[in-house]
Parts: sequence; structure tokens; C-alpha cells
Amino acid sequence: MEMEEFSTDIPVIGSGLAGLFAAVEAERAGQKVLIVGKFSIGMGTNTSMANGAFTAANSRFSKEEHLQATLESGKGLGNVKLLDTLVENGSEAMERLRDYGVPMVERGSGYIIARPETSSQLPGVLLIRALVERLKKSSVQLLPGLVIFDLLVEEGEARGAFGFFREGKPYLIKSRAVILATGGAGAIYRRNDNQKSILGDGYALALQAGLPLFDLEFVQFYPFVLAEPRLSPLILLPPYPKELRLLNEKGENLSERLGIRGNFNQAVIDQRDSLSIALFEASQKGDVYFDFTHVPEEKWDRYPLNFLKKSKFPFHERPFLISPAVHFFMGGVEIDERGRTALPGLFAAGEVTWGVHGANRLGGNALTECAVFGSIAGQSAAEYTRTKESGERQLTPYEVLKGRWERKAKGYLRRKRGTYDHPRDLLKDLKDLAWKYAGPVREKGSLEEGLDRLASIEKRIERVYPATLKDLFKKRDLENVALLLKAILKGSMLRTESRGSFSRKDFPYQDDQNWMKNTCYRLEKGELQITHHPV
Ligand SMILES: Cc1cc2nc3c(=O)[nH]c(=O)nc-3n(C[C@H](O)[C@H](O)[C@H](O)COP(=O)(O)OP(=O)(O)OC[C@H]3O[C@@H](n4cnc5c(N)ncnc54)[C@H](O)[C@@H]3O)c2cc1C
Repeated sequence: MEMEEFSTDIPVIGSGLAGLFAAVEAERAGQKVLIVGKFSIGMGTNTSMANGAFTAANSRFSKEEHLQATLESGKGLGNVKLLDTLVENGSEAMERLRDYGVPMVERGSGYIIARPETSSQLPGVLLIRALVERLKKSSVQLLPGLVIFDLLVEEGEARGAFGFFREGKPYLIKSRAVILATGGAGAIYRRNDNQKSILGDGYALALQAGLPLFDLEFVQFYPFVLAEPRLSPLILLPPYPKELRLLNEKGENLSERLGIRGNFNQAVIDQRDSLSIALFEASQKGDVYFDFTHVPEEKWDRYPLNFLKKSKFPFHERPFLISPAVHFFMGGVEIDERGRTALPGLFAAGEVTWGVHGANRLGGNALTECAVFGSIAGQSAAEYTRTKESGERQLTPYEVLKGRWERKAKGYLRRKRGTYDHPRDLLKDLKDLAWKYAGPVREKGSLEEGLDRLASIEKRIERVYPATLKDLFKKRDLENVALLLKAILKGSMLRTESRGSFSRKDFPYQDDQNWMKNTCYRLEKGELQITHHPV
């Protein structure tokens, strides 16, 4: 197995909005940059699915209002310095997007990507296309289909990354700095609206590099996501027509019973958490449906209904199954206002990071976060790289590095007989477990049961010996997902309160006296350690 190697100044791991912004900025600052995506560059990311809503100060919405709304949503757990950075730099990031050809226009509390009302194109796809076009005009090297398995840490600094191309070739990137922009982990849950490959790789990479992660137990749910078998779990976005009905399997209207006050459009803003919980509980008892059959024909020509209309499924003719689903991860890697992590040379941006959102994310803040902190991470990594250029430190001789990583690559592919479970079945078991035990509603008994069941799945994962490269990718996913799930279950056991998106049935109230604390997760000698730190 011949390993390919490459030297650059800054590799950017991840090509969603955060990674694309970071790459553009680092290159503008004169550095040699490459950008990696698990599949393509830009597509297959959560960014490509996004609704294109950015929250940021505009002519009618002040910075102070942005700050207050985000603080309120975060219920006291956010990092105020990071939040200030987001608020201060939000509108400038929108200008930057305009410069890159994204048609940004003001809306109530921020900006949206302007499109004709009759366009059924996803705003996220427009966003990605504009940025990838911008990248293609630059010197940034694009490496689609490279899956990063490890960060290269040499002498206490991030100096590159190691991974496999999908077709099997191991690849070593040697660099002066690294930017982590791998997104969140929504797809570790059976019910989610994320892209399939968003499995929390960045969290595992950071933990394994010795970095702490924070507040992983805070997972945001969206109440209305398509749950028809054989259809993709598409988020059902506003604006909702006034004719929309929410039904149970007997055809009874659930809106009032589930406490939807006013219309659905307001409810997804004001009651997103309580609605997700109510719908989760209702769907434990029976199926829940959206019914668009009373929506008049002319409304089907406008987004987002025109997007549904393109499907072969007869959304306009019969009610269809919906469920709440995982939407966003608030927790992640700690960064400072310059996008630096605790590991020198490693910078991070986007959903993989922690800090801005606290206990729950305000709608529209994720994309603004990616643009603001993606730029900052790109600039900071470039500054750091320049100091390394003039530094006299000697890197480990290349041949030594290469030998070490070639041995590691071979170690991953241990050809042994005796796979008892198919990795696909194990991943399904993990996702079911996540949804059942670490879903919208948690409690001590079920969290304990979840941890017991996870331990037995972990034993089955150990017995998966990857004989082929396809199995190798899958085993890696299984290990990462199991680690992350263990963290979420354990962290949820310890937090004996409910706050923001985090709901404990046995501790239904926010407990400011005991729980104005962030949860810190570390991996020490392979064991997960959890501590709590006052905000
Ligand atoms: C359906 C939907 C709609 C949304 N709408 C909005 C909205 O309107 N407004 C808003 O603010 N937020 C929205 N969000 C949230 C927001 O879109 C995401 O938080 C944001 O796009 C994340 O961007 P990112 O760059 O951090 O990661 P992503 O866009 O998820 O990209 C992650 C990248 O990392 C790569 N990667 C991961 N692991 C590896 C690895 N091991 N090796 C190599 N590459 C790797 C992936 O291939 C991908 O390129 C929405 C989310 C969803 C799911």
C-alpha cells in the first residue's frame, strides 16, 4: 500500500461554509492551502442543505438585539467573548458573502439568500456553488473524497493530518497549521435532518489529539422532519401555509393538544424545544402526520412547497409521516476569539466548535458563525504559519514521519477472520440507541439502560475486523459514533436539570444554583473523563 504524501502550509479539513471561508481567507493571506471533503468539495455538507437564513445586525436589527436574543436562547451557558465576536463581525461577513457572489438581502433579524419566490433551488446549494466557484479561481488545492483519520501532532503542535482516499490510498499531509471544520454529528441519530456523513469525526479527532470538548449533551432538535420510510429525512421548513394540519393516525387534529399557540410559523420559533418534546412523546404512542391536502394549488409554486412538489411522493394528495429529528450540535471543540484551539497550530470553526450558542442555538446563528469564525480561523492560521516560516525549529525528518504513518496505515487494515456483525447493522443499532436513549427526552433509568446497551454494542464493534477498505471506513465510523454517544449519555446522566434544548424528565426545571456550568469531556488513556466548570 503506497502512501502518498504532500506538504502544504494549511490543510482545511471540511468543506462546508466554515471550511470554505477559512480556505479563502488563508489563501488571501498568501498561504498555500488545501481543502478536504469526505466526498465532494462543498456538496454532501450540512451547509448545502441549509435554508440560507443568517442572523446578524442589519438596518433594522441592532447588534445589541442580536446579542440579547442569542444570550436568551443560550440560557447562560454561552461564551460571551465568542458571542461578542460573532455579533461584532456578523454584518461584515455578510458583505464578504456578497463579494463572493452570494446574493444576500436583509430580512427581519439578519439576512437571507435572495432567490425568486418560484425557485425550488435549496439556498444552501446556491451558497456552496458561489464559494466553490470562488475557490476554483484561487490557488487552493481541492481534495475531494479524502477522509481524515488522525491529526498529526508533533512536539505538541498540529503539523498535518493523515487519512485515506475513498478508493483506498493512504495520504499524509504535512503542514505548519491545520484548520478543523468538520461540522457536527446529527447523523449519529436515527432521526436527523443532516447529511449521512455528518457523524462527528471532528469531535473524535479532537478528543484523540488530547483536546477537551464541551457541552456535548446539548443537541438541538427540529420538530418537523419528514419520516416517511424510503424518503430522505428532509427538514420541513417554514413558511408553513395556514391550511397545514397536524394529525394523528386517527385523523384527529393534534395542534391544540400539543400546545401549538397561534400558527406553525410562530410555533417553530417560540416553541421549538417544547414542540419537539411533545411530538417525540406523541410519536411514541402512534404516528404523527403533516397534512397539506387543503393547501390551494397556487401555493405549491412557491418555496419550500415547490421543492416538495418535485418529489414523486404525492405530498399534495395525502398526509405523510413526520417526526422531530436532530438538527444541530451546540457542543464541540473550544476555541478563542481568534479561532485557536488549545493545541498550538490547530484552529477550528463552524459546527464542530463550542461556545457561541450555549444551551440552545438561535435560528440563523449557525451560518453566521461559520462565516465569521471561518474567516477568523483562516486569518489566524495564516498568521501562525508566517511565524513558523521564520522560526528555526526543526521538524521531525520526513522519512521518520513517513515510516511511522505507513506502519499506522497498515495497522488499520488487520486482515482477520471472524466478523460477527455487519458494520451497517451495528451503525443502525447505534443510531436507534441514540434516538431512544439520548433523544429529545432523557431520564436516569433510560440513560443507564442506554449505557449498558452501548457497552454490548462496543464489544460487537471490537469484533469487526476490517478486511476491506469499505469495512475500514465503516469501522472507523462505528468507533467514533460509539465514543460520541457514550459522551452524550454520560454527560446527560450527570446534568440533573433541564435547560435550553436539554430535557431531563426526572429534573424538569432549570437549576441555576447548581448548573450554571459547562461540561468538559476529555479522553485520558482511552477513558472518557467528565468534569464541570462554572460558566
Ligand atoms: C437541513 C438544515 C437546514 C439548516 N438551515 C440553517 C439556516 O438556514 N441557518 C443557519 O444558521 N443554520 C442552518 N442550519 C445549520 C447549518 O447549516 C450548519 O450548522 C452549518 O452549515 C455547518 O457548517 P460547517 O461548515 O460547520 O459543516 P458542514 O457544512 O456540515 O461541513 C462539514 C464538512 O466536513 C467534512 N468532514 C467531516 N469529517 C471529515 C473527515 N473525517 N475527513 C474529511 N472531511 C470531513 C464533510 O465532508 C464536510 O465537507 C441548517 C442545518 C440543516 C441540517
